[in-house]
Order: sequence, then C-alpha cells, then structure tokens
Amino acid sequence: MQAKLGAHVKQVIQVLVHLPAHSQMGSALSYWSEQAPAPGSLVRVPLGQRELLGVVWDGPAAAAQLPEPEKLRPLAGVLDGIAPLSAAWRQLLEFSASYYQRSIGEVVLAVLPPQLRELSAVQIGRRLKRQTLANAPPTPTAPDCEPVALTPEQSQVLAEFEQDRKPGLLFGATGSGKTEVYLQLVQRLLARSPQAQALVMVPEINLTPQLEARFRARFAPRFGQQALVAMHSGMTPAQRLHSWLAAHSGAARIVLGTRMAIFASMPSLQLIVVDEEHDPSYKSQEGARYSARDLAVYRAQLEGARVILGSATPSLESWHHSRPDGGRYTRLTMASRVGRDASPADGQARLSAQPDGLPQVRRVDMNHQPKHCVFSPPLLEAIAQRVARGEQSMVFLNRRGYAPVLHCRDCDWKSECPHCSAYRVFHKIDRTLRCHHCGFTEPVPRACPACGNPDIAPMGRGTERLEEHLAELLADVRRPNTASASKPEGEPVRIARIDADSTRLKGSLEAQLAQVHAGDIDVLVGTQMIAKGHDFRRITLVAAVNPDGALFSSDFRAPERLFGLLMQAAGRAGRDAGMGSQSEMWLQTFHPHHPLFAALKRHDYPAFAQQQLQERAQAAMPPFSYQALVRAEARTQDIAQGFLSAASAAATTTALAELLEHVSLFPPVPMSIQRIANVERAQMLVESGSRLALQKFLGAWQATLQAQRTQPAGRGLIRWAIDVDPLSI
Ligand code: ADP
Ligand code: ZN
Ligand code: ZN
Repeated sequence: MQAKLGAHVKQVIQVLVHLPAHSQMGSALSYWSEQAPAPGSLVRVPLGQRELLGVVWDGPAAAAQLPEPEKLRPLAGVLDGIAPLSAAWRQLLEFSASYYQRSIGEVVLAVLPPQLRELSAVQIGRRLKRQTLANAPPTPTAPDCEPVALTPEQSQVLAEFEQDRKPGLLFGATGSGKTEVYLQLVQRLLARSPQAQALVMVPEINLTPQLEARFRARFAPRFGQQALVAMHSGMTPAQRLHSWLAAHSGAARIVLGTRMAIFASMPSLQLIVVDEEHDPSYKSQEGARYSARDLAVYRAQLEGARVILGSATPSLESWHHSRPDGGRYTRLTMASRVGRDASPADGQARLSAQPDGLPQVRRVDMNHQPKHCVFSPPLLEAIAQRVARGEQSMVFLNRRGYAPVLHCRDCDWKSECPHCSAYRVFHKIDRTLRCHHCGFTEPVPRACPACGNPDIAPMGRGTERLEEHLAELLADVRRPNTASASKPEGEPVRIARIDADSTRLKGSLEAQLAQVHAGDIDVLVGTQMIAKGHDFRRITLVAAVNPDGALFSSDFRAPERLFGLLMQAAGRAGRDAGMGSQSEMWLQTFHPHHPLFAALKRHDYPAFAQQQLQERAQAAMPPFSYQALVRAEARTQDIAQGFLSAASAAATTTALAELLEHVSLFPPVPMSIQRIANVERAQMLVESGSRLALQKFLGAWQATLQAQRTQPAGRGLIRWAIDVDPLSI
C-alpha cells in the first residue's frame, strides 16, 4: 500500500512486537516507512513512550487492522547489519504460534535472544563488528576429520538413513553408539557442502557439556572453534546473542542446544538431530507450550532438511510413526552395545555385540517381604555386599510427578474410575477422588470399598526419608579402607542424595557428581535426575524401591515414563567394560508379573511398546487421538471451573457447535496440584480423533474463551491458557 504524505512516498509496513498472550490488538502493528524493509527485517519501532524491537512481517498474521494512515507513526530504525529472517523461519514461527494457540508477536519476540531487544542499534552494530572480525574463516590446514571404524550396525543405519528422505527414528540401546552416528551424519554433511548447517538438540543443559566436548574434539580442528555454538538457557545474555548471530550469519556450522534451539535462525539448515527424543523436557511448560521434538520434524520438512530422532526408549508417538507398515518415519535399529575387546591381537579395538552387556533385572515380590518395609532384606543384603566389595549402588526414586492414586494394601483395591480406563486422583484439600478424564467425583471412602480395611493410602507413600532410613539400615556395614592400613576393619558407608532439593545451589550438582565419580560415595540415592545421561562407571547395582505408583497412575503416560527411566537407570550400571554382566537392576514391586516388568527384564522395549499401544488404541488415547488442555487459574476453584464451564457452554450454542461434531469437551476438574500460592487451578480436556478438527476448534474457540473474561463467569479469573498435546493430564 502506498500513499502520498507531503512530498515523500511512504509505505505501510506490518511489524510484530511483543504483546501479551491473548491480546485483542491483533498481532502486527502498522508503521510508516520510506525504505520498506524486507519481511523478516529487525526494526525498532515506537509504541507509546517506548521504543521496541520489532520484526517486519508479511504472513497471514500480519493481515491485521489497518488504522487510518494519518495516525501511523514512522519506524524508528532498521537493524540493517543483520540479514532479514528467512521465509522458512517465519513460516516455522507462524505455524508454532497457530498450532500452540498463542499470538505470533509473543512467540517471535520470545524466541529471539533477549539482548536483541535490550541493546540499542548502535550497541548491536558494535557487537556485529567484533564478531565479524573474530569470524575470520578458519585456515583449512587441518586434515579431514579422522575416520572412525564403524560397527556394522552403525554403517547399516547410516546407509539406510541416507537412502530415503523420511524422518529417521534411531532406536539404539544405551551405549550402542548413537552419538557416533550423529557425529558421522554431521561430518558427512559438512564435507559435502561448504555452507550446510546442522542442529543437534539434547533435552537438558546438564547434558550439553559432555556432548559439546565430543563435537568440539571432532570438528574444531578442521572447521575452527567458531564453527560450533551452544544455545541454552544457562548461558549469559551476551553469549546467547553471540551464538544467535553466529548461527544466523551462517558462520556457525553446528548449533548444539536444548529445546529453545529449535527456533535458531539457520539459513542453511540441512540436518536436525534430536537426541533422547522421548524426554519430556522437549515440551515447553510455559508461554507457547511447544514440543521442540515435534517442531523439529515440521521444520525439517519445511526446509527440505533431514531429521533424525534418537532414543533407547522412544516416545510411543514416535514408535508408532515408525511402524514398518506405513509409518511416516523410518525405524533404524542398533540393538547391541559397542564392545571393545580388552586384549586385541592386532592392536585395534575389536568391535563386538555384547548381548550380555546389560544388567540383569531382578524383581523382589514385596507380597512376600515383611509388611510395610521400604527396603526388602534381599535388596539390603545385595547393597551391603557391593559396599563391602568397594562397588557403588544407586537407589532410584520416582516419587515425583505422579498424581496420587488411593490403594488398599490388603486386597489391592485401587481408586479406578468406573467410567474410564483411568484411575481417580486423590485430592487432599477436599478429600475427594476425581477422574481427570471424565470428571467423576466422590468423597474419599472411610475404608476400602472392597475389603473394609480402614488403612487405605496414596500409593508410593513412605519414601520421603529414604536416605536417612537407609543410613540406619546400613550402619554396621563397612567399606574397604583404601586410604590407610591402620583401620583394617574399614570405614562407615557413605551415602549421598541427589534431587531437586540437594542441587538447588549452583554448582552443587557438579560437585556431588564429582564425588560419585571419584568413588567417595558408596550409595547414591536420588530422583530421575540421576538416571539421565551421567556416566557412572563403578555402579554395579541400580534399585528402584517403589516403582508401582506409575503402573497405576491417573496419567496414561506414567508407565511409558517409568519404563524409559528404568531402562535409562539400568543403562547407568556397569558401563565399564566387563562389569555389565555382573551388574544388576533390582525392582521392588507388588506386581512382579506386570507386563512392564516382564518386558524390562528382557530389555525388550518393542514388546513393552506393543502392549502399551494396544491399550492406547483400545482406549482411544494418543497417538490414536489428539488432546488439548485448557487451564484456568483463579482465586477460588469455583471461579476457575466456572470460567471453563461457561466457555464450554458457549461453544455448544454458537457457530462453533458444528466443529464440535468431531471434538469432545470434558467437564472441568481441579488440577492434581490444585492450589499453588493461594491460586486455585482447574483444567479441562478437549479431545478429538482428528488433529485438524481439534486445531480448527481451538483456533475458533480462542475468541469465545477470551470473551468469557468480561462476562460474569470471568470475574476473579487470573489467567487461562491452552496446552496442545499436553504431556500429563
Ligand atoms: P550412545 O549415544 O548410544 O549411548 P555412544 O555413541 O556414546 O552411545 O557410544 C558408546 C561408547 O562407545 C562411547 O564411549 C563411544 O566412544 C564408543 N563408540 C561408539 N561408536 C564406536 C565405534 N564405531 N568404534 C569405537 N568406539 C565407539
Ligand atoms: Zn481392600
Ligand atoms: Zn472417568
């Protein structure tokens, strides 16, 4: 659009700025500009008294209101040292905002490095100059990366992946050499094309240093230190800007990061790796609740790049998508651990499959152990033996993150929902049992409805003080005394606990891990935190003391998460060559014959997945249906639920009713953690057999939800938000 104002020809351009989530202002604002910067350009614009960072936009979201020309203000400036964001990047952001039901302005500005927003154009110009100087291309003196002798499985997987164009799901046991496959893929890509960029994602900041070191060792000698940058929330704002500019300019060939890295601007992106693809950390829990794993697949398709997802225990979604008969992904399998023969005759490490390299799984039937014991005598005995031999044990708790289900220890009754294949959750606040699926609610019974036992309790109770308890039980056990011969009887056991509480201080996790690695700890007690990624070489026993809670959880994904965690924990044991076959994983359970444990004993993820997918298909749960949660927070539970009910009722009476033919709205329920800091929280499930129908409905319903805020039902409401593809319900 052009108009003559005075003597100049000026153009109206649309600019995204950071506006509140459900802003009714529309996402893009209009400004006058004489230069008409290209879409994707970074600009500074006046808004009220402030000057903000904005992005010139041209997508559907920019077709916003066009106010009267004379009211428009001019752009304050263009950051012309930075190339415009690409059309593909803009489309990725359009998709993310619309799929996860947030405003495009919010999402775009939130994924740009904070310093871009804060620094002035002059300051950014200075940064750019410094960085360009530092980016002098590396002298290509170094020879090609050293060739690695691949295992037959690795070669096979690489060949298969390079043959087709589909996303790959690399299903590889812990230690099967998945990281080496990623390294090879990146290496081949960089060798093929002088511009190509690769994005490698890991679920947690803790896992980045190890991986970064491996990538640096491989690629820095040939491509320079600048060729690899990290991107995660543990970096300083200055570091983040540096990495972002390096990726955006193409100087960085490899970007290694956590979920936020999926939004890195990479003009020549050709490969995306998502390691530990099943990890819930890939799903954002605030703002736009995006799944970086799912966006990786979308982005690869958008940019014509390849994508590979890797895991020893894939998400059931990805497993299902890679089914051999007609799945959208290609399944690539590496079943054996990379083994190295300790005394090879020819001086070369011999690679061999080690089917016995995984720990033996032992199930303790708690029905035959002393009543209410936390540690069964055989497990205690096994731990004591390891201590005496100078080996390490890991006691693993999964008490966190599961909504409590009531349980009778005498007859095994559990608080099932009579209407759903789900367990009702115990809500302590009003002593009710509620189904988080259909909303069915009853007061907590005084005694077990099946046998009359008055002692019914949430499953998994009693593990809180486990560390102290264990110290008492092991008080008489001695570890071998290596430091001095003056105490031949040995020293007391050393127990350490690692969980969210013990690692709150910066650096304390690293310090504790160092103690474990140094062999100063005999028994390590902890939550899922210790099951992930850390390489504890001297651990020969891993024990899950109370895994049953996840078998009977209100959350249908709990068994999947438990299986993944236990497999991962088992992978911690006996990583040292030769120790694998002697190491053990102990499970204390009242359900030793549960199919999950049977599959675990055989290290058989495919069997577990098949059984779970069958159950999910029968119950029409994801991946056979699609879900979204609408959450509301208010001063009282009534207000939170009332808001959701009203929005639900409004949907059935308006034009939306037609879309509801393929979408089910369930009644609102309090969230498992019902109250936080005096704010009451409620949620409501929306389900559909069609992703498209769900998307259409949610998109149209937004306005209705927003309108409810100003209705009587919205009075006292603090906030509401939609979570598409939620990971827990
Ligand atoms: P994963 O990522 O599947 O757990 P890694 O890639 O970390 O497995 O490999 C496990 C171990 O085996 C590492 O110490 C790695 O250096 C080694 N390794 C992997 N592939 C090879 C290979 N082709 N030759 C020799 N050692 C290898
Ligand atoms: Zn009972
Ligand atoms: Zn129900």
